[in-house]
Amino acid sequence: MKIRRSVVIGSVVLWIITMGASAQAIRIGLYNHEPIRTATIYFTSGEYMVNSGERKIGTYGSGDILFAAMNEQGISLHSLMGHLGSFDLLEFRSLGLNASFRIRPLLPALESRAYDDDLMLVSHGDFMNLINELDFDKYIAGVLEAEVGPGAEEEFYKAHALLTRTYLLKNFDKHKEEGFSLCDGVDCQAYHGRARYNPAIARAVFETTGEVVADYHYRLITAVYHSNSGGETQRAADVWLEDTDYLQAVIDPYSLHQEHAKWYDTIAYGDWKTYLLDHGMASVKKIPEELLYIQQRHRKKYFVLDQDSLLMTTIRKDWGFKSTFFNMFPEVDNKIVIWGKGYGHGVGLSQEGAMYMAKQGFSYKDILKFYFFNIRIMDYEDLPQSSVPDLEYDLPGSG
Ligand SMILES: [Zn+2]
Repeated sequence: MKIRRSVVIGSVVLWIITMGASAQAIRIGLYNHEPIRTATIYFTSGEYMVNSGERKIGTYGSGDILFAAMNEQGISLHSLMGHLGSFDLLEFRSLGLNASFRIRPLLPALESRAYDDDLMLVSHGDFMNLINELDFDKYIAGVLEAEVGPGAEEEFYKAHALLTRTYLLKNFDKHKEEGFSLCDGVDCQAYHGRARYNPAIARAVFETTGEVVADYHYRLITAVYHSNSGGETQRAADVWLEDTDYLQAVIDPYSLHQEHAKWYDTIAYGDWKTYLLDHGMASVKKIPEELLYIQQRHRKKYFVLDQDSLLMTTIRKDWGFKSTFFNMFPEVDNKIVIWGKGYGHGVGLSQEGAMYMAKQGFSYKDILKFYFFNIRIMDYEDLPQSSVPDLEYDLPGSG
């Protein structure tokens, strides 16, 4: 993608505004648990004080470079001037509002990424944990850039920002034992550094700052989404066996005619029959062939044959299908053709459906209320104390 200079400058200006609005910080584990042994840190803007506990190491700014490598004494830190010492913990604390840096892991060699705000390096035996401590909303914008990308409507980004913020708060303790809240991989939410290319993302996050999605009982919801529902979302209970009143099936015309609305596959009839037998469906032997083809007008939880049943989610996983929402038809040469709908688990918000709703003029609140039942859109500070996690860190580098 080509980056226009004006876009970059626009988002920088917005960050200056947003910094004042929210002081809450979040810690994110970078490079999704890669065992990083050496890394170069480039200071790209603003000024940083580098400390190890009480010990001040120095002040660094735009253009400076530090090099960190694991050795027996911990993290060995070098500048271009020489060795600065070995440490268990290093904190890079930004002194101004808009400080940023870039990291390039060398061992293993990984792509370099740019980040806002603070950095901590924590010695962890043979490798170091890299932790980015940054403003909530800057993190949310980074996630939107990684998870959604450019080109969507602002109301869609707002809806997604609320889900991302809700997920972040609900899962604040997910990686707490490792010293951070969330990692940057898809098991949490993809985060590849600072949002740089989308002023609409920055505006959407800023304009909804603090807003989250709660259920009828004022508890943060399980903020799930998928690529495309195929025209009907799935009850959470049909996928994860846990029922919630806000994650129910919704007839979703907005997801039809979108990029991932349909898919197609073929499999061998013999392989399908063997698969069913291998999965305990003994009735395959006595049932007419036409009943072995899965047919769904609405999304089903199970494929049922006589007394036997198999979870649709198991079938999807085992065959690598894009969704559980499909129909099978006999084809020549002992093949089965599969016409599928949607992409992903189908629970919660359909990203493509929500994007289309935003294009049709629906607000982010309309969009969220379409995909989630009986929800409340509110500031997280107005939630009862029991619904919000303790937003404090003990380790490392607290105080
Ligand atoms: Zn994670």
